[in-house]
Amino acid sequence: MTRRVAIVGAGISGLACALRLHAIDPSLKIVVFEREGRAGGKILTERIDGFTVEAGPDAFLASKRGGVTLSRELGLQERMVSPAPEHRRSFVLSRGKLVALPQGLSGLVPSELKPMLRSRLLTPAGKIRLAMDLVIPPRTAIEDESLATFISRRLGPEAYERMIEPLLSGIYAGDGERLSLAATFPQLRASELTHGGIIKGAVAQNRERASRDPAQSPRTGFLSFVTGMSEIGDRAFDVAKRNGVRFVLGAECSRVRAEADGQPGYRLAVSRGGEDEIESFDGVVIAVPAWAAVPLLRDVVPEAAAVLTRFEHVSNALIVVAFPESQLTRPLDGYGYVVPRIEQRDVMAMTWVSSKWTGRAPEGQVLIRAFVGRAGQSAALEGNDESLVQLTLRELKEVLRLDVVPTMTRVYRWDRGMPQYTMGHLDRIDRVETELSRTPNMELAGNYLHGVGIPDCIVSGEAAAANLVADFREQARQTAAPASPVAN
Ligand SMILES: Cc1cc2nc3c(=O)[nH]c(=O)nc-3n(C[C@H](O)[C@H](O)[C@H](O)COP(=O)(O)OP(=O)(O)OC[C@H]3O[C@@H](n4cnc5c(N)ncnc54)[C@H](O)[C@@H]3O)c2cc1C
Repeated sequence: MTRRVAIVGAGISGLACALRLHAIDPSLKIVVFEREGRAGGKILTERIDGFTVEAGPDAFLASKRGGVTLSRELGLQERMVSPAPEHRRSFVLSRGKLVALPQGLSGLVPSELKPMLRSRLLTPAGKIRLAMDLVIPPRTAIEDESLATFISRRLGPEAYERMIEPLLSGIYAGDGERLSLAATFPQLRASELTHGGIIKGAVAQNRERASRDPAQSPRTGFLSFVTGMSEIGDRAFDVAKRNGVRFVLGAECSRVRAEADGQPGYRLAVSRGGEDEIESFDGVVIAVPAWAAVPLLRDVVPEAAAVLTRFEHVSNALIVVAFPESQLTRPLDGYGYVVPRIEQRDVMAMTWVSSKWTGRAPEGQVLIRAFVGRAGQSAALEGNDESLVQLTLRELKEVLRLDVVPTMTRVYRWDRGMPQYTMGHLDRIDRVETELSRTPNMELAGNYLHGVGIPDCIVSGEAAAANLVADFREQARQTAAPASPVAN
């Protein structure tokens, strides 16, 4: 029996799901409905006047499962690139000045003490407090705590505010006082419990990594592709299409309902070019942001929809500015800088794109990207695009003393772009997944479940595919099994 599967959303979660579904069961008829006129979702690289501009993510973490594996499966192993090694350093804006981030910060936390003690980011008292992580005993209470509470408890409030908070803002655009440790960095709590502290845990991890045969070691750091992040989305789309997956672009799914009269399967209402259509499927994967999943789940899994309604999101904008190198009055020697919340600035981070990545700007041109909008600091997003460009030019002037006349600007807005893994997140996800597990042939994938990064999204799409096929196989097994004898 040929089963029909609908995937709603052609971001990286939906694409990874389509590829995995076909790989597990090539007989499936897979249709992907995507609201936009292109696949890729938040992954979007544009080529503008010789610049390579990332409108969303600019890299993915190599050490996490999912990203490198899928890239290899798609034949992109030779296309992966690392940031330019000659500029490998980043800065933190501290009391109005750029201070280099100390070496040895690994996965958000210090893995070497010496560079921390030498850093100008912390006061002498802040450094002593940070080193106390080596002696403070692990907390015995098992309840979750906020990231801010945990890091302040281990490394001190100053290290949290000045060093760690701006880094985690760069990942979640969130408020560390409200983000759940268990949902965001469970490995830090595990380090505390296993090694007695987070510095000791990071040192042990480094040692373990160094003892491995380098040829066997997985890639580390951040990776992109020669012509930008869209390579992975475009290739996934092409390969899936070649495998027979049907993509319906410009098609918004507005409703999912169970088939009438208790029949298995679902009916999807889809609007495309002003026309509304209903299509029937045996299984459905919803691979859209949490807020967009709510109306789709309301009829079939109302309890899950109710939980997802309470998920918080942060909107943000990326402002891209290019200008001639001749206007540089100082070198941009690094990947850029992050801004702690306590600095009270609108720009949360700036990437010096043409220093970080090779070949992203034409000869003699500089490309930078400013990130605006984080939990509790998003007033600037209310302004129009021109005001965001002006804000970025002001930032260049005030922080870098660069008075530039742009040759190209772009503003990309991501409405509710970042899901917030606030306290209680794991319980909420558990409730959503429990409800879904009681709903046959219906799966969720996306960045609000088990991680916001691209590798996490890939893993979530692949897991949804595996669960759906497992459901189908179980149903086929039950249908094939001989009926049990009727008791008399
Ligand atoms: C500005 C920004 C920078 C980021 N930087 C990084 C980074 O550097 N590294 C990293 O790893 N991660 C980064 N992330 C996070 C990462 O990009 C996302 O978590 C990930 O791309 C989400 O993929 P997704 O497929 O789950 O969702 P999306 O990419 O949002 O895709 C969902 C798709 O569903 C479609 N859709 C929605 N509703 C419907 C509907 N009703 N019917 C049909 N289609 C629908 C949408 O149009 C969209 O194409 C960043 C995110 C943002 C916003």
